[in-house]
Amino acid sequence: MTRPAVLILLGPPGAGKGTQARLLQDRFGLVQLSTGDLLRAAVAAGTAAGKQAKAVMDAGGLVSDEIVIAILSDRMRDEDCRNGVILDGFPRTTVQAEALDGLLASTGQRINAAISLEVDDSAMVERISGRSTCAGCGEGYHDTFKPPQDGNRCVKCGSTELTRRADDRAETVASRLEAYHAQTAPLIAYYEAAGVLRSINAMAQIDKVSGDMTEVVETILN
Ligand code: ADP
Ligand code: ADP
Ligand code: ZN
Repeated sequence: MTRPAVLILLGPPGAGKGTQARLLQDRFGLVQLSTGDLLRAAVAAGTAAGKQAKAVMDAGGLVSDEIVIAILSDRMRDEDCRNGVILDGFPRTTVQAEALDGLLASTGQRINAAISLEVDDSAMVERISGRSTCAGCGEGYHDTFKPPQDGNRCVKCGSTELTRRADDRAETVASRLEAYHAQTAPLIAYYEAAGVLRSINAMAQIDKVSGDMTEVVETILN
Protein backbone atom coordinates (compact mmCIF):
# COMPACT_ATOMS: atom_id res chain seq x y z
CA MET A 1 0.00 0.00 0.00
CA THR A 2 1.26 3.48 -0.79
CA ARG A 3 1.69 5.84 2.12
CA PRO A 4 -0.70 8.77 2.44
CA ALA A 5 0.65 11.81 0.65
CA VAL A 6 1.74 14.84 2.65
CA LEU A 7 1.97 18.14 0.75
CA ILE A 8 2.91 21.43 2.38
CA LEU A 9 1.94 24.80 0.91
CA LEU A 10 4.36 27.54 1.95
CA GLY A 11 3.82 31.22 1.31
CA PRO A 12 3.01 34.56 2.91
CA PRO A 13 -0.52 35.57 3.89
CA GLY A 14 -2.56 36.11 0.74
CA ALA A 15 -0.23 34.09 -1.51
CA GLY A 16 -3.09 31.81 -2.55
CA LYS A 17 -2.47 28.79 -0.31
CA GLY A 18 -6.14 28.31 0.58
CA THR A 19 -7.31 28.82 -3.00
CA GLN A 20 -4.82 26.30 -4.37
CA ALA A 21 -5.31 23.82 -1.51
CA ARG A 22 -9.03 23.61 -2.29
CA LEU A 23 -8.33 22.99 -5.98
CA LEU A 24 -5.80 20.26 -5.16
CA GLN A 25 -8.22 18.73 -2.67
CA ASP A 26 -10.89 18.38 -5.36
CA ARG A 27 -8.47 17.11 -8.00
CA PHE A 28 -6.39 14.65 -6.00
CA GLY A 29 -8.73 13.52 -3.21
CA LEU A 30 -6.48 14.88 -0.49
CA VAL A 31 -7.78 16.76 2.54
CA GLN A 32 -6.94 20.43 3.07
CA LEU A 33 -5.82 21.11 6.62
CA SER A 34 -5.66 24.83 7.34
CA THR A 35 -4.40 25.73 10.80
CA GLY A 36 -5.93 29.19 10.25
CA ASP A 37 -9.37 27.58 9.75
CA LEU A 38 -8.84 25.24 12.73
CA LEU A 39 -7.85 28.20 14.93
CA ARG A 40 -10.80 30.33 13.75
CA ALA A 41 -13.10 27.39 14.61
CA ALA A 42 -11.50 27.15 18.08
CA VAL A 43 -12.01 30.91 18.58
CA ALA A 44 -15.66 30.64 17.48
CA ALA A 45 -16.21 27.64 19.78
CA GLY A 46 -14.64 29.53 22.68
CA THR A 47 -12.24 26.72 23.66
CA ALA A 48 -9.30 27.47 25.98
CA ALA A 49 -6.92 27.36 22.99
CA GLY A 50 -9.25 29.62 21.00
CA LYS A 51 -9.33 32.17 23.81
CA GLN A 52 -5.53 32.31 23.90
CA ALA A 53 -5.22 32.44 20.12
CA LYS A 54 -7.71 35.24 19.45
CA ALA A 55 -5.69 38.27 20.58
CA VAL A 56 -2.58 37.03 18.78
CA MET A 57 -4.49 36.45 15.54
CA ASP A 58 -6.17 39.87 15.72
CA ALA A 59 -2.77 41.48 16.10
CA GLY A 60 -1.32 39.56 13.14
CA GLY A 61 1.19 37.55 15.18
CA LEU A 62 1.78 33.80 15.30
CA VAL A 63 -0.13 31.64 17.78
CA SER A 64 2.12 29.59 20.08
CA ASP A 65 3.72 26.48 18.63
CA GLU A 66 2.27 24.41 21.45
CA ILE A 67 -1.35 25.29 20.61
CA VAL A 68 -0.95 24.97 16.85
CA ILE A 69 0.93 21.66 17.00
CA ALA A 70 -1.71 20.19 19.34
CA ILE A 71 -4.60 21.28 17.10
CA LEU A 72 -2.92 20.04 13.93
CA SER A 73 -1.78 16.68 15.26
CA ASP A 74 -5.26 15.97 16.63
CA ARG A 75 -6.81 16.73 13.26
CA MET A 76 -4.29 14.56 11.39
CA ARG A 77 -5.48 11.52 13.32
CA ASP A 78 -8.97 11.82 11.85
CA GLU A 79 -10.13 9.06 9.53
CA ASP A 80 -10.61 11.35 6.51
CA CYS A 81 -6.87 12.11 6.44
CA ARG A 82 -5.96 8.56 5.48
CA ASN A 83 -5.57 9.31 1.74
CA GLY A 84 -3.28 12.20 2.41
CA VAL A 85 -3.28 15.84 3.39
CA ILE A 86 -2.43 19.28 2.06
CA LEU A 87 -1.07 21.40 4.88
CA ASP A 88 -2.13 25.00 4.32
CA GLY A 89 -0.48 27.45 6.71
CA PHE A 90 1.43 24.85 8.72
CA PRO A 91 4.28 24.64 9.58
CA ARG A 92 5.05 28.33 10.12
CA THR A 93 8.10 28.01 12.40
CA THR A 94 11.11 25.69 12.60
CA VAL A 95 9.74 24.25 15.85
CA GLN A 96 6.50 23.33 14.02
CA ALA A 97 8.47 21.83 11.09
CA GLU A 98 10.46 19.65 13.47
CA ALA A 99 7.29 18.60 15.30
CA LEU A 100 5.75 17.62 11.97
CA ASP A 101 8.82 15.55 11.07
CA GLY A 102 8.47 13.73 14.39
CA LEU A 103 4.76 13.16 13.96
CA LEU A 104 5.20 11.75 10.45
CA ALA A 105 8.13 9.55 11.50
CA SER A 106 5.97 8.01 14.22
CA THR A 107 3.32 7.00 11.66
CA GLY A 108 5.75 5.92 8.91
CA GLN A 109 4.84 8.85 6.68
CA ARG A 110 7.01 11.42 4.94
CA ILE A 111 6.67 14.78 3.24
CA ASN A 112 6.20 14.37 -0.52
CA ALA A 113 6.73 18.03 -1.26
CA ALA A 114 6.81 21.51 0.24
CA ILE A 115 5.51 23.81 -2.49
CA SER A 116 6.54 27.42 -2.09
CA LEU A 117 4.16 29.99 -3.58
CA GLU A 118 6.42 32.83 -4.63
CA VAL A 119 4.85 36.30 -4.56
CA ASP A 120 5.91 39.93 -4.11
CA ASP A 121 5.02 41.55 -0.79
CA SER A 122 3.65 44.52 -2.77
CA ALA A 123 0.75 42.40 -4.11
CA MET A 124 -0.33 41.14 -0.69
CA VAL A 125 -2.28 44.15 0.60
CA GLU A 126 -4.54 44.12 -2.45
CA ARG A 127 -5.07 40.36 -2.26
CA ILE A 128 -5.87 40.38 1.44
CA SER A 129 -8.06 43.48 1.51
CA GLY A 130 -10.23 42.13 -1.34
CA ARG A 131 -10.66 38.66 0.17
CA SER A 132 -14.02 37.19 1.23
CA THR A 133 -15.10 33.67 2.13
CA CYS A 134 -18.42 31.86 1.66
CA ALA A 135 -19.98 31.10 5.04
CA GLY A 136 -21.84 28.16 3.47
CA CYS A 137 -18.98 26.14 1.96
CA GLY A 138 -15.72 27.98 2.64
CA GLU A 139 -15.01 28.89 -0.98
CA GLY A 140 -12.68 31.88 -1.22
CA TYR A 141 -13.40 34.96 -3.33
CA HIS A 142 -11.73 38.22 -4.28
CA ASP A 143 -13.48 41.50 -5.12
CA THR A 144 -11.37 41.94 -8.26
CA PHE A 145 -9.57 38.67 -9.05
CA LYS A 146 -12.30 36.11 -8.30
CA PRO A 147 -15.61 37.91 -7.83
CA PRO A 148 -18.66 35.95 -6.65
CA GLN A 149 -21.60 35.55 -9.05
CA ASP A 150 -23.82 38.67 -9.40
CA GLY A 151 -21.60 40.45 -6.89
CA ASN A 152 -22.59 38.39 -3.81
CA ARG A 153 -23.50 34.77 -4.64
CA CYS A 154 -21.20 31.76 -4.07
CA VAL A 155 -20.65 29.92 -7.36
CA LYS A 156 -20.19 26.63 -5.49
CA CYS A 157 -23.17 26.52 -3.10
CA GLY A 158 -25.39 29.51 -3.92
CA SER A 159 -25.10 31.13 -0.48
CA THR A 160 -25.13 34.93 -0.41
CA GLU A 161 -23.45 35.06 2.99
CA LEU A 162 -19.88 36.08 2.24
CA THR A 163 -17.73 37.00 5.22
CA ARG A 164 -14.52 38.98 5.68
CA ARG A 165 -11.90 37.90 8.18
CA ALA A 166 -11.35 40.08 11.24
CA ASP A 167 -7.58 40.10 10.59
CA ASP A 168 -7.81 41.04 6.89
CA ARG A 169 -7.27 44.75 7.56
CA ALA A 170 -4.51 46.83 6.00
CA GLU A 171 -3.12 47.54 9.52
CA THR A 172 -2.49 43.87 10.31
CA VAL A 173 -1.07 42.89 6.93
CA ALA A 174 2.28 44.49 7.78
CA SER A 175 2.60 42.49 11.04
CA ARG A 176 1.60 39.30 9.30
CA LEU A 177 4.17 39.81 6.54
CA GLU A 178 6.79 40.61 9.17
CA ALA A 179 5.98 37.40 11.05
CA TYR A 180 6.19 35.52 7.75
CA HIS A 181 9.65 36.84 6.86
CA ALA A 182 11.07 36.42 10.35
CA GLN A 183 9.64 33.03 11.28
CA THR A 184 8.24 31.21 8.26
CA ALA A 185 10.47 32.12 5.29
CA PRO A 186 13.43 30.19 6.82
CA LEU A 187 11.41 27.01 6.19
CA ILE A 188 12.13 27.39 2.47
CA ALA A 189 15.79 26.58 3.19
CA TYR A 190 14.71 23.87 5.67
CA TYR A 191 12.75 21.99 3.00
CA GLU A 192 15.33 22.66 0.31
CA ALA A 193 17.89 20.93 2.52
CA ALA A 194 15.44 18.05 2.98
CA GLY A 195 15.23 17.72 -0.82
CA VAL A 196 11.45 18.24 -1.04
CA LEU A 197 11.17 21.93 -2.03
CA ARG A 198 9.27 22.96 -5.19
CA SER A 199 8.67 26.58 -6.17
CA ILE A 200 5.78 28.06 -8.10
CA ASN A 201 5.29 31.58 -9.47
CA ALA A 202 2.13 32.60 -7.62
CA MET A 203 2.00 36.11 -9.11
CA ALA A 204 0.22 34.66 -12.17
CA GLN A 205 -3.56 34.37 -12.46
CA ILE A 206 -5.32 31.74 -10.32
CA ASP A 207 -5.87 29.32 -13.25
CA LYS A 208 -2.27 29.50 -14.38
CA VAL A 209 -0.97 28.92 -10.84
CA SER A 210 -3.33 26.00 -10.47
CA GLY A 211 -2.16 24.47 -13.78
CA ASP A 212 1.48 24.72 -12.66
CA MET A 213 0.55 23.32 -9.26
CA THR A 214 -1.27 20.33 -10.80
CA GLU A 215 1.74 19.54 -12.96
CA VAL A 216 4.06 19.54 -9.96
CA VAL A 217 1.73 17.43 -7.82
CA GLU A 218 1.16 14.91 -10.62
CA THR A 219 4.89 14.29 -10.96
CA ILE A 220 5.26 14.00 -7.19
CA LEU A 221 2.41 11.56 -6.68
CA ASN A 222 3.12 9.37 -9.73
P1 ADP B 1 -3.75 32.45 1.58
O1 ADP B 1 -4.51 31.20 1.96
O2 ADP B 1 -2.35 32.15 1.13
O3 ADP B 1 -3.78 33.50 2.64
P2 ADP B 1 -5.93 32.90 -0.33
O4 ADP B 1 -5.97 31.65 -1.14
O5 ADP B 1 -6.99 33.12 0.66
O6 ADP B 1 -4.46 33.08 0.33
O7 ADP B 1 -5.90 34.13 -1.37
C1 ADP B 1 -5.92 35.48 -0.91
C2 ADP B 1 -6.86 36.30 -1.79
O8 ADP B 1 -6.28 36.45 -3.09
C3 ADP B 1 -8.23 35.65 -2.03
O9 ADP B 1 -9.19 36.68 -2.11
C4 ADP B 1 -8.07 34.92 -3.37
O10 ADP B 1 -9.30 34.85 -4.08
C5 ADP B 1 -7.07 35.82 -4.09
N1 ADP B 1 -6.11 35.07 -4.93
C6 ADP B 1 -5.61 33.83 -4.72
N2 ADP B 1 -4.73 33.50 -5.70
C7 ADP B 1 -4.66 34.57 -6.54
C8 ADP B 1 -3.94 34.84 -7.75
N3 ADP B 1 -3.09 33.95 -8.27
N4 ADP B 1 -4.14 36.05 -8.32
C9 ADP B 1 -4.99 36.97 -7.79
N5 ADP B 1 -5.70 36.76 -6.66
C10 ADP B 1 -5.54 35.57 -6.04
P1 ADP C 1 -3.06 33.73 6.06
O1 ADP C 1 -2.13 32.75 5.48
O2 ADP C 1 -4.04 34.30 5.09
O3 ADP C 1 -2.36 34.80 6.87
P2 ADP C 1 -4.25 31.80 7.98
O4 ADP C 1 -5.70 31.57 7.93
O5 ADP C 1 -3.34 30.73 7.57
O6 ADP C 1 -4.01 33.13 7.17
O7 ADP C 1 -3.81 32.23 9.47
C1 ADP C 1 -4.51 33.25 10.17
C2 ADP C 1 -3.81 33.49 11.50
O8 ADP C 1 -3.88 32.30 12.30
C3 ADP C 1 -2.32 33.82 11.41
O9 ADP C 1 -2.08 35.20 11.19
C4 ADP C 1 -1.82 33.34 12.78
O10 ADP C 1 -2.15 34.27 13.80
C5 ADP C 1 -2.67 32.09 13.02
N1 ADP C 1 -2.01 30.87 12.49
C6 ADP C 1 -2.44 30.08 11.47
N2 ADP C 1 -1.62 29.04 11.28
C7 ADP C 1 -0.62 29.18 12.21
C8 ADP C 1 0.54 28.45 12.52
N3 ADP C 1 0.89 27.34 11.83
N4 ADP C 1 1.32 28.90 13.54
C9 ADP C 1 1.01 30.00 14.24
N5 ADP C 1 -0.07 30.75 14.00
C10 ADP C 1 -0.89 30.35 13.00
ZN1 ZN D 1 -20.37 28.56 -0.96
